[in-house]
Amino acid sequence: MRKRRIAGALLAAVMMFGGMVYLPAENSAVVIQSEAAGKLAAPKDLKVSVSGRNIRISWSKVKGASAYRVYTYRNGKFVKLKNVKTTSIGLSDLPYGEQRFKVAALVKKNKKYVAQKASEEITVMIAREFNTDNITVNTQSSIRIAGSDVVVRFDPFRISGNPNDADIIFFTHEHYDHFSLDDIERVRKPDTIYVAPKTMEGELQNIGINDAILFGTDERKEVAGIQVEAVPAYNTDKSFHQKYKGWLGYVVTIDGIRYYIAGDTDVTPESETVVCDVAFVPIGGSYTMNAKQAAELINAIKPKAAIPTHYGSIVGSRSDENTFRSYVDSSIQVVSKLF
Ligand SMILES: [Zn+2]
Repeated sequence: MRKRRIAGALLAAVMMFGGMVYLPAENSAVVIQSEAAGKLAAPKDLKVSVSGRNIRISWSKVKGASAYRVYTYRNGKFVKLKNVKTTSIGLSDLPYGEQRFKVAALVKKNKKYVAQKASEEITVMIAREFNTDNITVNTQSSIRIAGSDVVVRFDPFRISGNPNDADIIFFTHEHYDHFSLDDIERVRKPDTIYVAPKTMEGELQNIGINDAILFGTDERKEVAGIQVEAVPAYNTDKSFHQKYKGWLGYVVTIDGIRYYIAGDTDVTPESETVVCDVAFVPIGGSYTMNAKQAAELINAIKPKAAIPTHYGSIVGSRSDENTFRSYVDSSIQVVSKLF
């Protein structure tokens, strides 16, 4: 019974559909270590070339190898992907995000391949073709990002209708324009996951949310398959958002694209070291950095695209957007979502 299940799993692992490699499912895992009984060297010089969601991995020949086995990382361990006779493999339509691979030489014993020592792993990031079409900002800092299989929202506010589409809702802090029960009710689903600063635990419990995933100011962890990194958000020359409150911005990686949602903050040492593809920064001034300061932050962290937020309703105006645009380096795309 057990044997048959494993045989089926191995067959599934090497099936090809018109050049598309079928990735084995969770229950078909093959652990490398248990097979690594041989004496051949591990393949070296792994290289990868990437074109969209297609990659080619190559490695140098191992003396004595009769074939090679490629492994990929799934659900916490390396699993067999495919055997090849050559020293390279092409893989198509890979899922978005970080992909990890190893290769081992194979020797034939009693008509069966036996895997030798596996190579060092090679990592490749498969990113969605870059654009910002999947993003909306309906007002203030109320942001919606649609990934290929997830919808995340930040600080929902003045939501029209009842989209109830959020898989994850992130809160940066508890001010009314960032943490609004009426708007939470408009975007949440029965299984929505909430992410918030640790210091908001009581506020969340007051509105019946007892199972939020809470972040300290320098914490990073995975939430529903999405890498989330907290970045502290605070004022440096005003007192609306004091550092001791533990309020946050976030860097989230969706489909291989890193989004920085700054929250209500001034330019801080922590914000200046963020690495991201898209940065949402407040530009309205008064309670946060102003347009010129925001542009300076953007020029320091150099995202592909900058999306100004926190202006045009409660604070700041369209002219702040023009100021922001005029100071941002021309190599960085400024995308206006509010106007
Ligand atoms: Zn605020």
